[in-house]
Amino acid sequence: MDMRKEHVEQVERIERIKREKNAIILAHNYQRAEVQDLAEFVGDSLELARKAMDTTSDIIIFCGVDFMAETAAVLNPGKKVIIPDRGAICPMAQQLPREVLLAAKRVHPDAEVVLYVNTLAESKALADCICTSANAREIVDAMDASTLLFGPDRNLAYYAQKATSKKIIPVPELGLCPSHHQIALEDLIKAKEAHPGAKIVVHPECIPEVQDYADYIASTGGMMRICKEVEDDEFLIGTEVGLLHRLEKEAPEKKFYPVSTTAVCPQMKMHTLEKIEVALEKEKPEVVVPHEIVDKARSAIERMLELSK
Ligand code: SF4
Repeated sequence: MDMRKEHVEQVERIERIKREKNAIILAHNYQRAEVQDLAEFVGDSLELARKAMDTTSDIIIFCGVDFMAETAAVLNPGKKVIIPDRGAICPMAQQLPREVLLAAKRVHPDAEVVLYVNTLAESKALADCICTSANAREIVDAMDASTLLFGPDRNLAYYAQKATSKKIIPVPELGLCPSHHQIALEDLIKAKEAHPGAKIVVHPECIPEVQDYADYIASTGGMMRICKEVEDDEFLIGTEVGLLHRLEKEAPEKKFYPVSTTAVCPQMKMHTLEKIEVALEKEKPEVVVPHEIVDKARSAIERMLELSK
């Protein structure tokens, strides 16, 4: 069968099952283009967490990585949260298991714990507050303690530290996102030479040298807003390449160039239309967070939503 026709028929089937089951598809900005195009809502992790709380759908098909789907499950105890490919596991979240955080808390008993949403639910349950790249600076400022344990991304910790007089201790010391950490300053300098008029917009998971060279640093949701709202019409984009699809779709009159074409998160690309269709039909794999973790993790996430209103 003609590929185009096959694709259209598959999309129609998925749309029909979604209607029959009162399901919604939420997709992160780094998802494949065809997955973004099928979703009711595309956004960054903070936007997705808020959307997951607002929806009246019975089933949430969550096209993102494990910690995002877990966050949606924690915030929606009465709903079925399904992740089309269970293998979509964020390598950065894995860098901060519960034991590592407990050990850091023992060393710094007076510090409060602020964790990036990119963490396992078991670690969130030990946090005083969660943050995302969109609100990290705001949350750090709103905390009571003058010393904060902050994890797992040392680059986001650097970004937060630049805007506060509080002491931020990264935990683990060397946590990072492999897709962003590989975006090198040399890539950025070369890209700027090729497009000297372009504004540089990067994500705070990038290394400090790249952040310091950029015109703007923001979450993917923030990057979208900046590129659409400022008058410039050319941009160098320093984040996972999936964001380019949304930028080109929503601001077709502007030009966007990736700083690094190899900044690809393989885990984010695991969800496909085939897997979404099967997940919708079978209503699995369901994301289930153990009861004892849900309540503690929820209060840290809700504190973030409250503080970043
Ligand atoms: S882009 Fe980085 S932080 Fe985001 S899911 Fe992939 S590995 Fe994790």
